Amino acid sequence: MVIQPKIRGFICTNAHPVGCAAHVREQIEYIQQQPKIDNAPKRVLVIGCSTGYGLASRITAAFGAGAQTIGVCFEKEPTEKRTATAGWYNTAAFHEEANKAGLYAHSINGDAFSDEIKAQTIAQIKADLGQVDLVIYSLASPKRKDPETGEVYSSTLKPVGQAYTTKTYDTDKDEVKEITLEPANDEEIANTVKVMGGEDWERWLSALDAAGVLAPNAKTTAYTYIGKELTWPIYGHATIGKAKEDLDRAAAAIRQDHSALNVEAYVSSLKALVTQASSAIPVMPLYISLIYGVMKEEGTHEGCIEQIYRLFTEGLYAAEPTLDEDGRLRMDGKETNDATQAKVKALWDQVNQDNFHELADYKEYHADFLKLFGFGLAGVDYEADVDPVVTWS
Ligand code: NAD
Repeated sequence: MVIQPKIRGFICTNAHPVGCAAHVREQIEYIQQQPKIDNAPKRVLVIGCSTGYGLASRITAAFGAGAQTIGVCFEKEPTEKRTATAGWYNTAAFHEEANKAGLYAHSINGDAFSDEIKAQTIAQIKADLGQVDLVIYSLASPKRKDPETGEVYSSTLKPVGQAYTTKTYDTDKDEVKEITLEPANDEEIANTVKVMGGEDWERWLSALDAAGVLAPNAKTTAYTYIGKELTWPIYGHATIGKAKEDLDRAAAAIRQDHSALNVEAYVSSLKALVTQASSAIPVMPLYISLIYGVMKEEGTHEGCIEQIYRLFTEGLYAAEPTLDEDGRLRMDGKETNDATQAKVKALWDQVNQDNFHELADYKEYHADFLKLFGFGLAGVDYEADVDPVVTWS
């Protein structure tokens, strides 16, 4: 099958296996060019391992620290007629490269919120690794089925308190326009916390500890986005921000509940980047396109892999990591500092339909978006007939 991108709104509904593999290799090569990570973890569980920040975490642990990795993801398998999701192909490519490098890798495809997948993961750790010394929690999901009640909760992306009118960029129609987002009600806020808050992170740690597969002095981190004034109304102070605040509560609870093992739990704040999750958030494509241009000009632009390498070396495994006043690891300073934000704010105030392509680096945004699905990678023949059916072992 010849595979060309099929874009519907903010998502691409297909993926290119050869392109995804090239994208994974690009990230591996970046890590291989960096100094090895000191005091690095050797047995790592990555929950949400197949795309975005989770995939970058798995690559960093494996290729930067020589770690054995078990990954959990929720991806669609390919058929003869339909491509798999990008995360499936990324995982297959990760396995291939890990196998070549002699690094143990095992991946479990299923609902990480469920007790069944937790039990399956624990059985795999017992069988192959004994214990894990790092647990990365990198899920981004619109829904969660509560394993105790069976109730399915959906998250919403809405402001809290009052309606918010702002600019946004419609990637489908190439249009800068104004949108008004109505505020969430209490139930929508609570449901978003249920999906994207810390409850499931805590459940994972409790299950791992109870099964005896959490190593003494293990570390764990969940990822957050804090941002600044421009994104607060739709992110930091919005429904998703409420869920992210709950991660701070969960980190403290995890430290306390697993203090006998001296578990270190951190919330790590990362920069805004194009991923499947962030492209679905109103306002973010416009904000990210503007900040890309500013940070590239400043020479501070980073992708997922650069952010996560720094998280390991300057945060999680640094002798003296710098924490913010709430005890979080902050990798987002190059984005959120006042000088950079002032430049983005100035562009934000000016941007309109006529000057968008001049002021924003949408070219880079779109190229990065396509890359998420394996398109636009150098050296890949997109006219070639490729087999969409790829598996991993
Ligand atoms: P992503 O969409 O690229 O990755 C999500 C991962 O979660 C994938 O591996 C997917 O398979 C997995 N997943 C989703 N639902 C699952 C389920 N039910 N069971 C098992 N696996 C499931 O997202 P991302 O942008 O890398 O986000 C990861 C984390 O980083 C999120 O917590 C997000 O809020 C945070 N973050 C993102 C940004 C950003 O700009 N993208 C910035 C800061 C923090």
